[in-house]
Amino acid sequence: MRWRSLMLVVVLAWFAWALVTLPPEPAALRLPPPSAGDPPVVRGAYHVHSKASDGTGTVEEIAAAAGRAGLRFVILTDHGDAFGRTLAPSYVGGVLCIEAVEISTAGGHYVALGMPPPPYPLAGEARDVVEDVARLGGFGIAAHPDSAKPELRWDAWDAPFDAMEWFNADSQWRDEGRWRLLPTLLQYPMRPSATVASLFDRPADLLRHWDAIAARRRVVGLAAADAHARMGLGGKTDPYDELVYVKVPSYEAIFRSLSISVELRDPLSGDPGADARSVIAALRAGRVYAAFDSMAGPGALSFTAESGGEVARQGDALAIKGMARFRAVTNGPPHTTLELLRGGEVVGRADGPSLEWEGSQPGAYRIEAHLPGAPGEPPLPWIVSNPVYVGLPAALGGADAVPPAIARLVWPAGSWRIEKDGRSAGRSATSAGEGPIRHTLHYELGRDAASPFVALVTTDVGALHDATRFAFRAASERPMRMSAQVRLVDGTLERRWQRSVYLSPDPREITVSFADMRVVGTGAREAFAPVRIHSLLFVVDSVNAKPGSSGALWVEGLRTER
Ligand SMILES: [Zn+2]
Ligand SMILES: [Zn+2]
Repeated sequence: MRWRSLMLVVVLAWFAWALVTLPPEPAALRLPPPSAGDPPVVRGAYHVHSKASDGTGTVEEIAAAAGRAGLRFVILTDHGDAFGRTLAPSYVGGVLCIEAVEISTAGGHYVALGMPPPPYPLAGEARDVVEDVARLGGFGIAAHPDSAKPELRWDAWDAPFDAMEWFNADSQWRDEGRWRLLPTLLQYPMRPSATVASLFDRPADLLRHWDAIAARRRVVGLAAADAHARMGLGGKTDPYDELVYVKVPSYEAIFRSLSISVELRDPLSGDPGADARSVIAALRAGRVYAAFDSMAGPGALSFTAESGGEVARQGDALAIKGMARFRAVTNGPPHTTLELLRGGEVVGRADGPSLEWEGSQPGAYRIEAHLPGAPGEPPLPWIVSNPVYVGLPAALGGADAVPPAIARLVWPAGSWRIEKDGRSAGRSATSAGEGPIRHTLHYELGRDAASPFVALVTTDVGALHDATRFAFRAASERPMRMSAQVRLVDGTLERRWQRSVYLSPDPREITVSFADMRVVGTGAREAFAPVRIHSLLFVVDSVNAKPGSSGALWVEGLRTER
């Protein structure tokens, strides 16, 4: 009897606490009437998983949820290597569904959109996938750099990615402890989107990273829904492995808690291909802001900077002529606070829904709008713009030029052999005509092998021992990736370092510096002594080729440099 009353008290206290701490209903805002000169703005959701990977909804269900939340587009980001897959946009129930792909790289997940199917599976080191997506003309986004799971978390900060997620809703709510999640179980059915958002914080670390990169180069920032509508109940470390799950938080709850708004050149036309191109062009241009509509919504912002008669919008670069004048206008309530940040530091503040400020310092300037009573510690901003890049060098410096070299031509015919797994086949041919010596590798990766490979190998590597890099000219029948590797042997322990290079029918000069090679398997940066190199390998493996595929590549004029 005593126990029963105690239980009752606990349950009642739980209910009472859930009711007392119930997050407030969002304030309904009106979108400002379109004014002359302002671009058409459409609201949507970025980073959504369907049943095609680890989400629980069909595209129809997701589009319907987006429509109910007032969104006009959804960017679907199911996991994959993009190989052979056409990313085709469509209208489903009036909502533009833009297909993207979330690629697993060794340096974390990378979302790519706006590109044709790649000629080989995209995988391997993050910097190589970034390079491949750029070569294909795609737009790539470093995903959830704050994920609690190291293998998903983006860590390739020096790769030239186009964009990054400065916010990821999935990382945000999954990082809460059980005791924090408990009252939300009762609150969720009453106020789904406000309850989900009550678990969000301002991601100060990610914003710092974004600001630091934006001070050096253009980089678009996006707030990701990363919606799966899936919460595992078994307490496994990987929530997507769970067989028993609930469809919580729902797509609609996430879509109502945050959105992205893109500023288009022209209004949507109803043609899915043209409209997807126009949304992707706006994302590329950085003409996008995020709003946490569960605080007050839908949130709207117009952010411009003007100097010497030139007007720039978010995402644009602006040259400073004298002073730069900034203007931000939101549709927020009177108690909105606006902050203008330069390089992450607040330089201007306004009490009220609009801000005007002027200054002459170069930097990446962006807007954060705040509302009182925001969830999180530090409090979640209500609206976050992309930067206007003021007075920054327009063009980025290219890659560092390779300093002049003392080169040694090495390896004539004779010392090469094939290494492969038991199910693959390979042969090599050496031609030594008039020109430089050329080694051709024909490979056929085993169809049923787990990780098939074929490699052209030499142990005649004395010339590498006092070098800092090696160089060659190479091409292949079809676009592909080849891994140039060195192997070090220490007793019975073998370790390899690699640099993946892109090959195509257009012959190309390639230089591989030892300092730029990473440990095979882990991708770790670890220096090695060239004098300990045991063999040099040119490898085709299943990182970027399907088992069963075959082809040929050649390498010529191989030399060491220092
Ligand atoms: Zn991911
Ligand atoms: Zn994802």
